[in-house]
Order: sequence, then C-alpha cells, then structure tokens
Amino acid sequence: MHAVILSIGDELALGQTLDTNSAWLAARLAEHGIGCRYHQTLADDRAAVTEAITRAADDAPLVLITGGLGPTEDDLTRDALADALGKPLILDEPSLARIEAMFARRGRPMAQRNRVQAMHPATTRVIPNPNGTAPGIRARLRRATLFVMPGVPSEMRAMFKDAVAPELDPAAGQRGVILTATVNTFGRGESDVAQLLAELMDRDRNPKVGTTVTDGLITVRIRSEAAEHDAARQALDETLHEVERRLAPFAFGRDDRTLEEAVVALLRAQGLALTTAESCTGGLVAKLVTDVPGSSEVFAGGYVCYANAAKQAMLGVDAGLLAAEGAVSQPVAEQLARGALARCPGASVALAVTGIAGPGGGTHDKPVGTVYVALASADAADQAETLPLRLTGNRQTIRDRTAKTALQMLRLHLLGESLDPLRPAPAPRHA
Ligand code: AMP
Ligand code: MG
Repeated sequence: MHAVILSIGDELALGQTLDTNSAWLAARLAEHGIGCRYHQTLADDRAAVTEAITRAADDAPLVLITGGLGPTEDDLTRDALADALGKPLILDEPSLARIEAMFARRGRPMAQRNRVQAMHPATTRVIPNPNGTAPGIRARLRRATLFVMPGVPSEMRAMFKDAVAPELDPAAGQRGVILTATVNTFGRGESDVAQLLAELMDRDRNPKVGTTVTDGLITVRIRSEAAEHDAARQALDETLHEVERRLAPFAFGRDDRTLEEAVVALLRAQGLALTTAESCTGGLVAKLVTDVPGSSEVFAGGYVCYANAAKQAMLGVDAGLLAAEGAVSQPVAEQLARGALARCPGASVALAVTGIAGPGGGTHDKPVGTVYVALASADAADQAETLPLRLTGNRQTIRDRTAKTALQMLRLHLLGESLDPLRPAPAPRHA
C-alpha cells in the first residue's frame, strides 16, 4: 500500500515555514509498512488544492492532508475538499458545541469565523480535535481514503495517532503485519555500532535493522514483517534482544525511552539522589535530569559554578590547584564532584563537568572540546572517577555531548559497568 501527502499553506509554499508535517507523517506511514509516492506542498489556493486532492485520490489509496483548516479567509482546504467531492459544506453540531465550549473555558467569545471550523463536506466524517479548534475530516473519494488534519504540528500528530493510525493497521494487515521497534544507544560511533550489529544489518534480512543518528544518539530501528502477527512479534523480539545484547551496555532503552529517563529509573531503583556541579554545560545535566517527571525523588540539587572564584566559593575547589592545573583539568573535575557531594544535602552521588566548549578559549594543550567529567559517590567519598573527553563540533554540540556523556557515565557506574569504552582513543603522536 502507498500514500500521498499534501501540505497546504501559503507560508509553506513561500518557504517561511518548513514543512515538517510531511516528513513526520511519511516516517509514521513507513512504520505501518506504507510507502509514500510523493509529497506536495500547495499554497492556500482553492482551485489548486481541489485539483491536487483529485489527482492524489487517483494516485494512491491513502491521502493525508494537513493545513488550511483554520478559521481565516485563507484557510480553504475544507472548501477545496468539498469541491473535489462535489458536495456542499454542512454543519456538525457536536463540533460547534465543542468549539463553543473551548472558547467558554478560555473566557472569550467565539468569533463567527470559528463557526466555519465546524463545517465539513456532506458524506464526510468529522475527526474530533481535543487539542485545538479545527476538527479533522475523513473522506472517501473514489477508491481512496482521505484524512485532513490541522496544520499545527502538535495537533496533527495527536490526531494522526488517535484517529488515523488505528485505521491503517487493518489495511496493512491485508498483506501481512509489520512491527517495528527501536533501540537507543549513546557513547559509540555509528560505524562501531554497525560493526557490532554486522550481519543483522544485511539489506535483505527480515527483520530489517538500520541505524540513524540524532544529536549523538544512535537509534537502531528494527522492522519485522510476517504474514501473521505472532510470527512478526517473535522475530522482532529475537532481533531486539540480539541487538541489545550486542550493544550492551550502551543501549539504554527502547522506543521513546530517553537517556535521562534511564538514569532517573536507575537512581530511583537504587535509592540514590544526584547532585551536579557544572561549568561548561551551565546546568544542562541538571536540566536533562529534571526534564523527567518524578525526578524530584532522585535529584537533590545542583551547582552552576562558571568562574574560578565560584568554583572556590561554592564548592571549595583549591585555589592553588586551579592556578596550577587550570579549571579544565582532571583534579579540578574531581574536586567539583567531591565538593558537590559534600555540600549538597541529601546527595549520594555527584556528577561534575568542566571543559572548553569554544569557540574561544582553546590552547595547544587543551583545545576546544577538552572536557573532564567526574563522578563521586557517597560510598567512596574520598575518591572520584574521571573521564577525559575530546569532543568535536560547535559550542552547542560540545555542551550537549558533554551532558549526555555525563549521564551515560553515571548510568554505567550504577550498573557496575566499565567506563573504559567511553574513553577516547589515545591521542595520535605528533612528531
Ligand atoms: P493551518 O492549519 O493551516 O491554520 O496551520 C496552522 C499553523 O501550523 C501554521 O501557521 C504553521 O505554523 C503550522 N503548519 C501548518 N502546516 C505545517 C506543516 N506542513 N509543517 C509544519 N508546520 C505547519
Ligand atoms: Mg494555514
């Protein structure tokens, strides 16, 4: 089965807004085993949209359309759909009631224009939108099923998941079942991961295994295809376990699981509370940990000590050490970790980071990307483990990878795993 995706809006055709909806939808369709023949981006032009809808319904049994369902003059998608179907627009009372209620909750009168959002072409079905005023529309045009969704990405995604995806599974089921899963990893390069996965990544293997990289995280995608659900599930699970076995201990979770969620879960399971001492990341480690709901149980507090004076005053880093070794050094990272652990009430484990994020500040001996991460824990408070890093990239990348490496270091420590694979290879010798 295949589909066509139409995205509608002047701002998209003009290039003022990037069409992210089509990319997101195409990826979801692929997860359902549905290929995409083409994407088309159209301005808010009633005749052009009518023509595109008509053609798309000839080209594919499934047509996904986003945008142009708003209340303003230029939102013409529902009119274009009505034209393509040759049907008049009719009012959907429940939608009108929902839109009126939404305005009432916000304490604002409903503009007359919003009434049009409760209209849909006769013979079509309304898809409720719990996240906004514009309901979606489900229509049949000749042999094609059409779904029209709001342009606002968060509303579109919720509607796709709630109302569109459940209808796709039976369609895919006619020619087999496709199940997918992902394994998330951090701390090894994509080529290392590929080497570990080896023959699992053969192009004609089923389940199919592939990798993608986003912000240093390597995601392994597994796609299992079989005639029956149970067979697809069993093959998927086998490959999933094998991928996780080969990528242990760097694989930190499946599907939507984040690295920080994995760390929070481990801290909670072990009854530990984290403190952070951050220089070059400016609080990013603490931010990531506290992004996780429920992190208050496992995050005691953190320090952002940027200047040397702050490192001394806040965490008792030795002035002589700072002068002799520099703020970006292994012993200073250790003192930051031990200082945070000693001073933060309730903390039982500490992560500290100090480094040169650039673009300025690098020297021959300590180029931009030189970072030290240290970990101290209450069961060995006079010691700290440190990890020297040599990162590349711009300021943002270096800070991001530093924070993620610190979290992965903590995770490996909590699992009792060696930190060695996180260490950089020995520096090449210069003549
Ligand atoms: P609309 O449903 O046409 O009123 O769109 C509402 C808003 O959603 C627009 O102003 C855009 O900012 C955003 N939007 C619409 N279509 C897309 C798209 N294909 N990709 C990303 N954002 C979009
Ligand atoms: Mg629009």
